[in-house]
Amino acid sequence: MPKKYTLPDLPYKYEALEPYISREIMMLHHDKHHLAYVNGANAALEKLEAGRKNNWQGVDIKGIERDLSFNLAGHVLHSIFWPNMKPSGGGKPGGRLSDMIDQDFGSFDSFKSQFSNAAKTVEGSGWGLLVYDPVNDQLLTLQAEKHNLLSTQNSVPLLVLDVWEHAYYLDYKNDRGKYVDNWWNVVNWDDVEKRLTKAKS
Ligand code: MN
Repeated sequence: MPKKYTLPDLPYKYEALEPYISREIMMLHHDKHHLAYVNGANAALEKLEAGRKNNWQGVDIKGIERDLSFNLAGHVLHSIFWPNMKPSGGGKPGGRLSDMIDQDFGSFDSFKSQFSNAAKTVEGSGWGLLVYDPVNDQLLTLQAEKHNLLSTQNSVPLLVLDVWEHAYYLDYKNDRGKYVDNWWNVVNWDDVEKRLTKAKS
């Protein structure tokens, strides 16, 4: 029996990130959208289990693996996105994270500009990502289209920004740029640094 994925609780109240992200968006985003990815990943696992039992007769495994990739990546990224934010967040990172950002991007402002640019220019629905690359022990920015495309398999996401329209449209309409600029006010740098420490260990 495959293990079930479960929806994690938000680590703060729905309205905690106002005025930058509204209670209404957080409720829909967490309770409906994130839950749909959890359910989608579980449904894909059940289909794979059924396929094993039926010796793959008439089973579209290619489609199921595609569903699993999309929904599981959606679940993983949203599970990082929520604790990546906190009320009264923002400011600048400290410690090892700050040192690494300076080393790999030149300065915090250069990093911020690069990350914002990546997030603002994702084609269609996707994410801006700061990842730890264990191959070269360095930080990189990446884009994800949808949740799972353009990924580099072994990179560890540290800071993720959802730029699907469902993440901002109710508050910002089509102004993704303003959403991205405002979002820096709720970044939880302690959480990002914790993820870096874990990724390096
Ligand atoms: Mn989302």
